[in-house]
Amino acid sequence: MNLKKEIIIAIDGHASCGKSTLAKKIAQELKYSYIDTGAMYRAVTLYAINSGYIKNGEVDKNLLVADLDKIDIDFVYDNQLSKSVTILNGKNVEQEIRTMQVSDFASQVAVISEIRRKLVAMQQKMGEKKKIAMDGRDIGTVVFPDADFKIFLTASPNIRAQRRYKELIDKNEKVEFSDVLENVLSRDKIDSTREDSPLKLADDAVLIDNSNLNIQETLAVALAIIYERFGDK
Ligand code: C5P
Repeated sequence: MNLKKEIIIAIDGHASCGKSTLAKKIAQELKYSYIDTGAMYRAVTLYAINSGYIKNGEVDKNLLVADLDKIDIDFVYDNQLSKSVTILNGKNVEQEIRTMQVSDFASQVAVISEIRRKLVAMQQKMGEKKKIAMDGRDIGTVVFPDADFKIFLTASPNIRAQRRYKELIDKNEKVEFSDVLENVLSRDKIDSTREDSPLKLADDAVLIDNSNLNIQETLAVALAIIYERFGDK
C-alpha cells in the first residue's frame, strides 16, 4: 500500500528493545531510508576509545570535544551485506561499534551537549527530504519534534538483556548475562536522567511494549497504525 504523503517516522525507546531492527524493517516496507542514530553516538565513542580519551572509566570531555571537527561519520550501503554500514573517518566500523566496550561508554559520550548538537544537525539534514525512519532516544522529542509518526518502544529489562546477550554470544563475544543486564539498565538510567535531550515519551508517541512480541509481530503493529493513519485508501 502507498502512503498518501511522504512522512518522517521517529522511533525512540529503551536500550536493546529492537528499535533499529524495527526502523530498518519499516523502511524496507515503505522503501524509505533508515538511519540508526545510536550508531553515530557509538562511532564517536569508538573514536574516544581509540584516541585514549577514556581513562579510569571516565570520558575526557574536553579532549573529545576539541576533536569534534576531526570526527567524520557516514553510512554507506554494503552490497554484499545488503545493509548500510557505519563509516568512521573512512573506515568501516560496523562490527567494532557493537561491542560491549563501546556500549559501556556510549551513554557517557551521549550526555555531552557539543556532541549532541553536531549529531542532531547531521540527523536533521538527513531527514530534510522526509521518507525516512530514524531510531534513537531523542528523535521524536528533539531531532524531529514534528515527525508525522512517533513510536516509543520498550520491553522488560530482563527480556531486552536476554535478546542482547544472545546477539553478542552469536557473534562470539565473551560476555556474562549479568553484565549485559547491568549495561542495559545503566544506559536506560543515564539516557533518561541526563539534562540534555533525555529519553522520554513524547506526548504524541504511540507506546509499544514488545516484551511478548517478536520482531514480525512488532512490525505488524507499527505498520497497521502507519497504514491506518497515512494509507492511501
Ligand atoms: O541505540 P543504541 O543503543 O545503539 O545507542 C547507543 C547509545 O547512544 C545509547 O545508549 C544512548 O546513550 C545514545 N543515543 C542517544 N541518542 C540517540 C541515539 C543513541 O543518546 N538519538
